[in-house]
Amino acid sequence: MTASFPERVALALHGGAGARRGVDYGREIEHMRLLAQAGRERLLAGEAALETVQFVVAELEASGLYVAGRGASPNAAGGYELDASLMDGATGRAGAVAALGGFESPIAVARAVLERTPHVLLAGAGAAAFAETQGLAEIANPDAWFTRAGARDSNYPPGALAHGTVGCVARDAQGRLAAATSTAGVFGKLFGRVGDSPIVGAGCWADGRVAVSCTGQGEYFQRLVTAAEVAHRMGLAGQDLQTATDAALDAVATLGGEGGLIAVDHDGNIALPFRSQGMKRAAAYADGRIVSEAF
Ligand code: ASP
Repeated sequence: MTASFPERVALALHGGAGARRGVDYGREIEHMRLLAQAGRERLLAGEAALETVQFVVAELEASGLYVAGRGASPNAAGGYELDASLMDGATGRAGAVAALGGFESPIAVARAVLERTPHVLLAGAGAAAFAETQGLAEIANPDAWFTRAGARDSNYPPGALAHGTVGCVARDAQGRLAAATSTAGVFGKLFGRVGDSPIVGAGCWADGRVAVSCTGQGEYFQRLVTAAEVAHRMGLAGQDLQTATDAALDAVATLGGEGGLIAVDHDGNIALPFRSQGMKRAAAYADGRIVSEAF
């Protein structure tokens, strides 16, 4: 493993690969830029990568601007089922929730699964019952709470699965990596459908070498175990971050899927590739540069 570079804190976040041409994402771009800056400052102050990715994803969820947390859109049955996961590369621990309803911050519930259970993934009614025992914030009135942020992205060819998600990856001052992903999934999804976002290795991954958060048509990322493929390409095949992430997304596109991912490696390199019209994304590079864009 490469030596640690304390100054090389790095962070990337995304607001989903469901960005559509012709839509003005100015608000999201400004919001993501501020969050990239805030995340970088936390990392520079010595915060652990796991804390920072949870903070950033919780802010993305709470904003109501993206198809996650407050911005969620309903499933085909009119209900809200949210997925989230996070993984700590330093310890290999992970926590996740799938098809969770009734709670404001799915990523906070995922973190509680990581910290306070022997499990990795809780789903549906069991996840909600667990969240209740943790005293996490409940949604009093779903109709008033949810903003359905994805509605303007969902003008999409029939048969295709439009989508949106949020995520964050970080490399902290001690060289620790972490990733977090949260979503309401694809628009029009069936009741009970679970995507890649809460599946460790599919939509989220972190180890000592790389942290990855994916967005896109989750069925493809599940079938290809995309986030873990990036890690394995780097760890087993010796590929660099850009080569590994490009190859993993090319495999998604070859199967007919679309999407993107954000990734950071142990040296603080960042990759933000996508195979879709756009991907709302921001990065705080190790040299202090901040970028935020959608296309
Ligand atoms: N990957 C998410 C899912 O399939 C959706 C997205 O990233 O836009 O649930």
